Amino acid sequence: MTTKTIGLVAHDEKKDDMVAFARAHKDRLSGFTLVGTGTTGGRVAQETGLAVLALKSGPLGGDAQIGAMIAEGRLDALIFFIDPMSALPHDVDVKALTRLATLYDIPVAYNKSTAEAVLKAL
Ligand code: PGA
Repeated sequence: MTTKTIGLVAHDEKKDDMVAFARAHKDRLSGFTLVGTGTTGGRVAQETGLAVLALKSGPLGGDAQIGAMIAEGRLDALIFFIDPMSALPHDVDVKALTRLATLYDIPVAYNKSTAEAVLKAL
């Protein structure tokens, strides 16, 4: 059985939450291949010790790289902690990822409780 791949993306105000989530579920997450946008992936790797392939920073194309992985069938789930308290940064990228995840029918979690449910289900 091939290892499933999870994408990790968090807006700036949600990066601490993503690190806390990854830390809390480190054992489970270590059974997956993890990829993340540059800053999110870098922080999770550095602060939890999990192996995360960090792509480009989201606004510089990292979100598009995650989108390409979805289109190519190389991503099994996306955990995308968006910041609900501000106008979404680089909104077009959020829309593109949401659209591709919907189109290719992969699970997407926008908050912690959904992410926990997705992790359980995978
Ligand atoms: P970042 O990108 O992890 O490189 O900050 C996140 C995002 O797409 O907003």
